[in-house]
Amino acid sequence: MSARMLDGQALATRIQHELAPAVESFKATHGRPPGLGILLVGDDPASEVYVRNKVKSGREAGMRVDMQRLSPEATLQETLAAVNALNADDSIDGILVQSPLPEAMGHDAEQRVIDAIAPAKDVDGFGVASVGMLVQNRPTLVACTPSGVIELLDHEGIAISGRHVVVIGRSDIVGKPMALLMLHRDATVTICHSRTRDLAGECRRADILVAAVGRPGLVRADFIKPGATVIDVGINRVEDPDLAASLFPAGHPRLATFAKKGAILVGDVHPEVEAVAGALTPVPGGIGPLTIAMLMKNTLKAAESRVATPVT
Ligand code: NAP
Repeated sequence: MSARMLDGQALATRIQHELAPAVESFKATHGRPPGLGILLVGDDPASEVYVRNKVKSGREAGMRVDMQRLSPEATLQETLAAVNALNADDSIDGILVQSPLPEAMGHDAEQRVIDAIAPAKDVDGFGVASVGMLVQNRPTLVACTPSGVIELLDHEGIAISGRHVVVIGRSDIVGKPMALLMLHRDATVTICHSRTRDLAGECRRADILVAAVGRPGLVRADFIKPGATVIDVGINRVEDPDLAASLFPAGHPRLATFAKKGAILVGDVHPEVEAVAGALTPVPGGIGPLTIAMLMKNTLKAAESRVATPVT
């Protein structure tokens, strides 16, 4: 058996196309496009790529995307001031501060910056107001990666209600909101983390397994109930040739890419899982592009709610 590959990239492209007419109609009604303000602090290379893709997607959908850079030496106060300027800008509907912030800014900098974003513009869905609404299953802006997972399962006709979902990872940005969204869709949910005993045994009970860990190839074939759906959220850059060789059999095209580029992106799910799972998301081309598509959806949603309920 070989798992059906769930093409997140194709669905993301489709969502992006479907957004364009709605963005046009917003523009025609309100005399301006939905606006997304992105703040990039520092020079993290992965963040540069993520931000570039977000800017491109937003502009392709017809939105206004303002990208502001702050130097790696920027202070927390400067970053908070930039967020407050975006809060006050009426043509900006969504604010995204790219993570991670420079370490020198302090351990609680990310939280303080998220806390500063106006709830109506919280298109990442990380703020306490958005999370509280999500916990209570009330309409809100929901974190983009987990909502992309739900979108993909729905699109693929994979039932959630009544199924056993296991989420590996309990971060505020993926694991916890993922578990809540699954719960609200009537799944029975187990959340696993680094202290979970018998991780493989817990995962084997899953009809749907979501891995959001950040450990290349952690999820092995013996974690999987035959036929289960496996969603690989992990995005890990592998630069170690031995690690790459432990993930892919000799002669695999990904090893040729590794030899050429010196690095590859892999998920948390070992490629051997393909032989046991019923359906599987690839990395790259799975949940990553959907995350960006959901960010654009959230920006339009924020714009529509802001014009319906202007912030005073
Ligand atoms: P994170 O904040 O580092 O959280 C990782 C979680 O995995 C933690 O809850 C941790 O447990 C758990 N964990 C670590 N090692 C484990 C182990 N050996 N066994 C079981 N659980 C373990 O990471 P994150 O921000 O949620 O991101 C997770 C992955 O998703 C990363 O690869 C990230 O790059 C990727 N990601 C992808 C997208 C996308 O668009 N596709 C978006 C966001 C993140 P503890 O809580 O006990 O420490």
